[in-house]
Amino acid sequence: MMDAEIESLAVLGAGSMGHGIAEVAAIAGYDVVLRDIEEDLVEDGYEQIEWSLEKLAEKNQIDQDPDDVLARISTMVDLEAAVADADLVIEAAPEDLEIKRNIFADVDAASGEETIMATNTSSLRVGDIAEATDRPEYVCGMHFFNPPVKMDLVEVAAGEQTAAAVIDAGVEFVESLDKTPIRVRKDVPQFVVNNVLTPFMGEAGFMYDEGDVEIQDVDAAMVFQRGYPMGPFELNDFGGLDIFYHSREQWDDPIPESISSRVDAEDLGRKTGKGFYDYDDGEGVNYEPTDGEGIDTLRIEARMINEAAKLVGDDVADPEDIDIGMRLGGGLPEGTCRTGDKLGLDTVLEKLRDLHERTGAERYEPADYLVELVENGHTGEKAGKGFYDYSDGGPYHYISHELTEEGKLHVLFDREERLNAFSTDMFNEVQRLLETVDDEDVACVVFEGAGDRAFSAGADITGFTVAEPTDLASVDETVQTIYEYPRPTVAKIDGFCLGAGLEITLACDLRYATEGSRLGSPEIDLGLIPGGGGTQRLVRLVGEPRTKELVYRGMQLSADQAEDWGILNRAVEADEFEETIDDVVDDLVNGPQTALEVAKQVIQEGQDASLDTGLSLEAQGFGLLATTDDMLEGVAAFNQDREPDFGGD
Ligand code: NAD
Repeated sequence: MMDAEIESLAVLGAGSMGHGIAEVAAIAGYDVVLRDIEEDLVEDGYEQIEWSLEKLAEKNQIDQDPDDVLARISTMVDLEAAVADADLVIEAAPEDLEIKRNIFADVDAASGEETIMATNTSSLRVGDIAEATDRPEYVCGMHFFNPPVKMDLVEVAAGEQTAAAVIDAGVEFVESLDKTPIRVRKDVPQFVVNNVLTPFMGEAGFMYDEGDVEIQDVDAAMVFQRGYPMGPFELNDFGGLDIFYHSREQWDDPIPESISSRVDAEDLGRKTGKGFYDYDDGEGVNYEPTDGEGIDTLRIEARMINEAAKLVGDDVADPEDIDIGMRLGGGLPEGTCRTGDKLGLDTVLEKLRDLHERTGAERYEPADYLVELVENGHTGEKAGKGFYDYSDGGPYHYISHELTEEGKLHVLFDREERLNAFSTDMFNEVQRLLETVDDEDVACVVFEGAGDRAFSAGADITGFTVAEPTDLASVDETVQTIYEYPRPTVAKIDGFCLGAGLEITLACDLRYATEGSRLGSPEIDLGLIPGGGGTQRLVRLVGEPRTKELVYRGMQLSADQAEDWGILNRAVEADEFEETIDDVVDDLVNGPQTALEVAKQVIQEGQDASLDTGLSLEAQGFGLLATTDDMLEGVAAFNQDREPDFGGD
């Protein structure tokens, strides 16, 4: 149908979202036209991009000259000229159906026949906008989050008539921006993330309307008991109560009285100085960890899970995409489908049914898909199946891995939105992977953090207030599993490597870091000590005074210092890093496997034994190796002055 190569784009609207989207695209190398209705508006947008690029450059978050990026952006007021050569037009004009329809009709007339037209709408239907064009199959939703430069998620959404190739091209485009796309397959207003997040704020409002809970208690319970990054009232104040109000009102959804009355009084949240909390005359957000007794947190989560179930059941989105969306777009520590599977979908269903019975309100009507799951016994993780299938342990949410033919197992800590901080689930996934992968196929393991900011910033402390002490024990178990893994392990550190992140690297055999990396044990600042073997492994590595200094003072070391102290094998310049790691891996995958395994074993076991015991361990190992084919090959290669070709025996 189309040659969907996207090379140039036009962004319509230079406001909060438009200028950010233009900036992101220009950073990724696209030529961008930024258009607004008046010269000074589009200039404002351009200046904001200039400012933002300077900031990124100051913080070393782009590796290009800001001027080169700016040179790819041109500003225009004339719509026809702006879209004439664009392969993709992204509209980020005000959230008003008529305005958007007019824009789309004009774009349709002025652009090429195969130009893809995308809307950044937050709450309108794609199809309602597409109707204004003669080519609805070329119209899609492309929903960036605020601010686009920082937020990694983009929802790519289909209207009823959107061509599959347009969605594919949209997904590919988003990936080329180094962002994470999720697919929204059907035309639901608000797409995925805001649909699931709406009841978080809405249901809290309804609970407050009933009159027997305090704002602070609800927020504290969701944050400190359930691990959400903000409480529902806090979040609503942050985003603006008017935004919440309008997104519900236009679809005739019931709105809590506590929200509509504040909107009427123009207490819209942070931006007006007052919402649920008072920011000007009061203390602002003022809940404490000890608040939140007796709050029915399940009531709020049940509604979010129900919303997710509707989306899955209606084939709008997959659980995986919903969960990635909620993590990256909603800032949640875990995806909502995953939460449902952990809570038990039967428990969730029962809560909804109780509420429905008590109030008769439509919003508690259980989704057909949720009912179906429960009726089939698919009640979640404990039952082996829920939104996800756990029969093989379930999907990995927080790590990804790849095992190459030559035997390199690459493990990526894949939680960039939290600087790859370790939750209990994430520890468990690392452990499960190492326990289930076939060791015979693995020659070495390389651990790395996603993105270029962190290996891992530590254990996820949002989980700490929620976790049982027994959960926290999984830190130690995982670290030990890494330490005892029979094959050589390599920590590839680029960025922050703190707390549990450092402990994991200490359990690895070899440690390399880029020069800009920072290593440390900040646990003391939380009133804790390292809990994954950090104190014990450090003291063996760097001695008592340095360990104590690191731990007592929560110090961070530069990579050079860490190399000096002997924590790192090497600190490496950033542009030599990949090559350095490749060389190490090369040696490990091509080396004699049994000898490497025995070497690891005798070095580790001998360390804490007496010298005599250590020497006899080594002698045993040596004796064992003297009979292998690898040894014969090694000796033969040496005699013939060639590279050995080890068969792994
Ligand atoms: P904004 O008010 O900051 O910017 C809108 C810009 O569009 C203004 O500069 C306005 O002058 C311009 N404009 C008006 N008519 C236009 C036209 N005919 N052609 C081109 N430009 C025109 O709004 P925003 O926050 O950037 O939101 C833009 C869109 O993105 C909305 O649909 C909104 O729902 C959506 N969105 C917003 C957020 C957010 O958090 N702000 C997040 C995701 C999506």
